[in-house]
Amino acid sequence: MKPVNSQIAAMGTTIFTMMSALAAEHKSINLGQGFPDTDGPDDVIQAAVDALRDGRNQYPPMTGVPELREAVAAANARFYGLQIDPNGEVVVTSGATEAITACLIAMLDPGDEIVLIEPLFDTYLPIVRMLGAIPRLVRLQPPHWDLPRAELAAAVGPKTKAILLNSPMNPCGKVFSRGELDFIASLVQSHDTYAICDEVYEHLTFDGCQHIPLMTLPGMRERCMRVGSAGKTFSFTGWKIGYVSAPRALAGAVAKAHQNLTFTSAPNLQRAVAVGLAKDDAYFTSLASGLQAKRDRLAEGLAGIGLGVLQTRGSYFITTDFSPLGFDGDDVGFCRHITEQAGVTAIPVSAFYENDAPSHYARFAFCKREAVLDEAISRLRRHFLSNTAAAPIAASS
Ligand code: PMP
Repeated sequence: MKPVNSQIAAMGTTIFTMMSALAAEHKSINLGQGFPDTDGPDDVIQAAVDALRDGRNQYPPMTGVPELREAVAAANARFYGLQIDPNGEVVVTSGATEAITACLIAMLDPGDEIVLIEPLFDTYLPIVRMLGAIPRLVRLQPPHWDLPRAELAAAVGPKTKAILLNSPMNPCGKVFSRGELDFIASLVQSHDTYAICDEVYEHLTFDGCQHIPLMTLPGMRERCMRVGSAGKTFSFTGWKIGYVSAPRALAGAVAKAHQNLTFTSAPNLQRAVAVGLAKDDAYFTSLASGLQAKRDRLAEGLAGIGLGVLQTRGSYFITTDFSPLGFDGDDVGFCRHITEQAGVTAIPVSAFYENDAPSHYARFAFCKREAVLDEAISRLRRHFLSNTAAAPIAASS
């Protein structure tokens, strides 16, 4: 028989699936995949339930129900002072994953270049490749993940169609500074390119650090596609409702891509997310402060065990340097080891790189109940602190 698509055939099982399967097999606490282990707000759930019962269960409008498009536009104005027309500048999608894919389809012809920043979220590269576009990778270096401006400038050229920017950033918890964004904006403008802005963690920032959408910078309103996710903003990652805010011409192109991907998303969930986006400021501030407390709890526990804890200013994740523990293996080996031997699962950070990745970092998700975080820490503590510090921990043990 003829083979399936060659790029699909070449894709392995993702490390996320592998680690989750291993976690299940070993009844390990899964701090690998980034999803909260409690539901989001009750009133948003109730709105989804009520919306199922009022007879609007057929295909909703292709770019999203009016309530949600209006709510997305209102949230843009309320949080960032962005004026977005709900009729023509918002596209509702099945999660940010689809939103980003639709933006990439909308922008890229075969041979076009797109600048991606490593470490990067795992869906970007496969889609860029399937579209026949050429990724130009620029790498942020731990522990501070500062933007290497000269390298970024060198990666942007005449064939660059877009830059894909994720801020706050998964896995490293970096929130791009105003200075860095100014620099990116100047490149976008001077090279006449666009920016796809993955801002799914926009409301999950800590220590008073403000998320600044690139789209709010001078000259960027007409060049950015800004992607949000109800999964992260309301802790319903299974709902898969995302939204793109973009200037009319770009939103129209994104809508055409979306039309051929999923066409629409569940109307009751869309209407519930509209209720969520209208929630008062207290909801959004307590979402961030609650997560910040969890970050601190996990960071303190991991540091107490001896891991190097890198700073996280946003997202669900802490990146740790496990080399101080004396583990004799790479990050995949480490994550496997702690799953099997300590009963706690993390994700190897090398999964967020194309190749030549740093190999001594592991990502832990802190969007879990306090009791779960405490149990994970005590398991790791029991495991590592009962091994004598002098002996390297063999990868195979
Ligand atoms: N972008 C980033 C950086 C993410 O971390 C995620 C989810 N892990 C997504 C996009 C996808 O979001 P959604 O679940 O809304 O598709």
